[in-house]
Amino acid sequence: MGSEDRQLHIFMFPFMAHGHMIPMVDMAKLFASRGIKITIVTTPLNSISFSKSLHNYSADSLIQLLILKFPSAEAGLPEGCENADSIPSMDFLPNFFRAVSLLQPPFEEALQNNRPDCLISDMFFPWTNDVADRIGIPRLIFHGTSCFSLCASEFMRLHEPYKHVSSDTEPFPIPYLPGDIKLTKMKLPIFVRENTENEFSKFITKVKESESCCYGVVVNSFYELEAEYVDCYKDVLGRKAWPIGPLSLTNKKTQEITQRGRESAIDEHECLKWLDSQKPDSVVYICFGSLAKFNSAQLKEIANGLEASGKNFIWVVRKGKEEEEEQNWLPEGYEERMEGTGLIIRGWAPQVLILDHPSVGGFVTHCGWNSTLEGVAAGVPMVTWPVGAEQFYNEKLVTEVLKTGVGVGIQKWAPGVGDFIESEAVEKAIRRIMEKEGEEMRKRATEFAKKAKWAVGEEGSSYSNLDSLIEELKSLAF
Ligand code: UDP
Repeated sequence: MGSEDRQLHIFMFPFMAHGHMIPMVDMAKLFASRGIKITIVTTPLNSISFSKSLHNYSADSLIQLLILKFPSAEAGLPEGCENADSIPSMDFLPNFFRAVSLLQPPFEEALQNNRPDCLISDMFFPWTNDVADRIGIPRLIFHGTSCFSLCASEFMRLHEPYKHVSSDTEPFPIPYLPGDIKLTKMKLPIFVRENTENEFSKFITKVKESESCCYGVVVNSFYELEAEYVDCYKDVLGRKAWPIGPLSLTNKKTQEITQRGRESAIDEHECLKWLDSQKPDSVVYICFGSLAKFNSAQLKEIANGLEASGKNFIWVVRKGKEEEEEQNWLPEGYEERMEGTGLIIRGWAPQVLILDHPSVGGFVTHCGWNSTLEGVAAGVPMVTWPVGAEQFYNEKLVTEVLKTGVGVGIQKWAPGVGDFIESEAVEKAIRRIMEKEGEEMRKRATEFAKKAKWAVGEEGSSYSNLDSLIEELKSLAF
């Protein structure tokens, strides 16, 4: 068989959290659309959402699942806890990472048995560098974030500028990062802020180190969105990187767009009917991703802020444990008053379907990178409400570089639960993006959305980056 007839086979290994699995399955479809064979490695319960996402996909015969048992019990996790969104509390996070690291032997065995040509694995599997080396194939990392935040976090790690400030609230510039971007210590992860070394901080160091010695990085972004930072990542930090996104745009049919992640808590037709009854650009969509859970006090402030803004809205609510039992987290008579003007979705929403609807005119987001990029692709101005992870960098990109959004005023990195924001700030930020002041942001957002669609089209930058990546992988393999 000539090398041109051989089919490239890529193993993809996504971290078990929806914010990591969703873009990886989109990426699998993207590669499969170019005739590449894909094996997604996952665990029994997570395989259900992959199967559902792939159900309506026509080239799905090129994508197969390989299922490894998730060692929940061995790591001290409750049975059935295979996904970051089912961890009982943040205290169990170390157990979850322990379970993930126990996957190493069966994963290596699977790789040995299947002998793919390349591995694309999540940032949270730094040990896959060594595994790929032993098999003799390149490992590409998928972080699921932008080049902006990859650069910012690496400069922060290398130069530790936060060590030279006198308080947690004194702004300091991120060295070497283009654009004079300033941050405060409060917005950094607690283990960085307090300079403590624990299991997690050591793990993050390994993640970062594996980035500098892997083959390269696949990025869910597009060149025109953050050209200066893509160049910086490649030229200053010396990394090989291929921006091939927005990956969410791989999904074309309504069914595919709707079936991403968990089972939707609302019927898509009901949701579309509600949106169809609204005026263009009039609805605010509020969602904080797959992991953040706010307490009742914060939910009440959001409810009051939304009502005071006078805008129609779709609000996705994920509650903490205590609020799940407590029913009165909404102000008295709220849902009756909001009938027709506000739609509350308890649980999982078909986010991209909603964002892409012409009546949606603004997005209040926790700045998870998938959500941020989905907001960019939909051309909506955003209210930024970062909670944890690298979301404070994404906020900076939106508010100071792209200038397509305003911050709600979050000061503190507080993963899972969030900093506290009063209703007046919620109202004000929503008015800023939805009224006169937002017009300029909307124009800019519309331009970025056009560029996003262009980037994934046949003439676009992401399309040609994917071509180059495939060619490079073929030249290594055959
Ligand atoms: N998402 C969704 N419906 C929801 C909540 C989230 O479809 O109700 C999707 C969203 O479209 C995005 C992903 O889940 O693709 C969340 O990823 P992100 O990086 O924004 O945040 P994370 O959940 O990782 O904090």
